[in-house]
Amino acid sequence: MPNDKQTVLIVDDDVNSRKMLREQIKSMAKIILAKNGMQALELAKEHQPTLILLDVMMPIMNGFSVLEQLKQSEQTQHINVIFITALDSHVDEAYGLKLGACDYIHKPYHYEIVNARVSTHLELAKQRKLLEDLAHYDSLTMIPNRRHLEEHLEKECHKASLSGEPICIALIDVDSFKSYNDNYGHRAGDFVLKKVARSLKLSLTRDEDFVCRYGGEEFCLILPNCDLNRAKATLEKCRASVQELTIEHNFSGILPVITVSIGGYLLVPDDTADIENILIKADSYLYQAKHLGRNQVKLEHELETHLTNKSQALPAF
Ligand SMILES: [Mg+2]
Repeated sequence: MPNDKQTVLIVDDDVNSRKMLREQIKSMAKIILAKNGMQALELAKEHQPTLILLDVMMPIMNGFSVLEQLKQSEQTQHINVIFITALDSHVDEAYGLKLGACDYIHKPYHYEIVNARVSTHLELAKQRKLLEDLAHYDSLTMIPNRRHLEEHLEKECHKASLSGEPICIALIDVDSFKSYNDNYGHRAGDFVLKKVARSLKLSLTRDEDFVCRYGGEEFCLILPNCDLNRAKATLEKCRASVQELTIEHNFSGILPVITVSIGGYLLVPDDTADIENILIKADSYLYQAKHLGRNQVKLEHELETHLTNKSQALPAF
């Protein structure tokens, strides 16, 4: 699972105040400084900090306006904000909390309190992130789960519809998995799923390629910016990598080892593309791969002829 270092954005129009705060908390996180509201909004979008320490009293755009704008943007509304305000401004405190600030630090600074508040909110953010990650990863295979897939596929389809680059979506199913579980037991079955997940992951060489557990003994691949040749080669590599694990399966009916069938669908989605339909198509090709004898790849595409170097017969293996 990803483990990013936490970042704190300090926003204050007073240079000394910015620097003092930075010195105080720099051991806890990476620090970014902004001297006004506009800069704060830009840096928040760009760096996605874990926490923002936001001065209320600033010329042109005060802290309240900055917070309102942060909360209005989908990119920044999740970021926690601690307001920095004068000691006796209870009205400001109430107003800021109503707008969505998570806490207050008073000026002049009492550094033990600054440290305690910042470290508490960084720790809370860490725990929240861990829970989010857990919700997006499969606990058995430690690869992303179906929930993660849906969000990821939506994003990648949108990108592909803008760029016009083809994207390949493939469903992968472990052949005769039920008979494996029946004969070798569920613990051995779990071991197979872990090994298959790892082997699929290692078969993907580019950062943008994605594999997740789709459910049961099914996995899903997303290969963005992928032409027909790359799609063929990658899916075939995935299939071969599982066979080459040579995990004994004497009840498979195909080979005496664990194998997978793969249904792949290569397309350039338009911006109305329905993710459910794309997965249904991939599933229908997986069904064909099963029907044709399993341990094989069935890849179909909806690309214009010029994108595929003239029409090629499919599948090629
Ligand atoms: Mg100020």
